Amino acid sequence: LFITLEGPEGAGKTTFIEKLVNDLAEAGVKALATREPGGIEIAEKIRTIILDKEHTVMDPRTEALLYAAARRQHLTEKVLPALQEGKVVLCDRFIDSSLAYQGYARGIGIDEVYSINEFAIQGAMPDVTLYFDIDPELGLRRIARNAGREVNRLDLEKIEFHHKVREGYHLLIQRFPDRIILIDAAAPFDVVYQNAKKMIESRLVQ
Ligand code: C5P
Ligand code: MG
Repeated sequence: LFITLEGPEGAGKTTFIEKLVNDLAEAGVKALATREPGGIEIAEKIRTIILDKEHTVMDPRTEALLYAAARRQHLTEKVLPALQEGKVVLCDRFIDSSLAYQGYARGIGIDEVYSINEFAIQGAMPDVTLYFDIDPELGLRRIARNAGREVNRLDLEKIEFHHKVREGYHLLIQRFPDRIILIDAAAPFDVVYQNAKKMIESRLVQ
């Protein structure tokens, strides 16, 4: 079972994955938690190139290609082998991030970005995607409280950009209604956690 988590920063995706993978392990379910861009050495290196706050001239298509390259390596090196072993894979971000951020918010076009990702993933779409929906202002306020967090290139974007990202995700829900499930991430973490966990458990028993 291949599960991806989507949404803006400050929505609680990472915290959710960390807790869920522990709970699944306790329940005897073998699960792998990983993230994009990154998760393996080559992709983590690509991540530092993409997110470096000094790289302010990066062309949106260059950015989209780098994400797709990092995605492919991570998929072939880590995700697919884990799925082969029968593990549940929980991945923090995947193709929908590229469609929402580069395709919609940066204006390349969702279809254009989809096509390079088709090349990169060769049909390995997630079985289910939980989209953590939150007002960008609230998400950004949450990350501002996270003192240890390093500043990245996306922090230089205006709030309008983050509103567009959210709009992009909402378009993706219309496009993939059977795959993407909306979770209200504005709620307290425990509530978000229980809701999202229920969604995943319903897929585990199928
Ligand atoms: O989720 P995480 O904090 O690891 O994401 C790192 C940064 O990359 C975030 O600022 C996110 O908004 C950005 N990002 C992006 N385009 C993607 C994926 C992530 O701009 N396709
Ligand atoms: Mg995160």
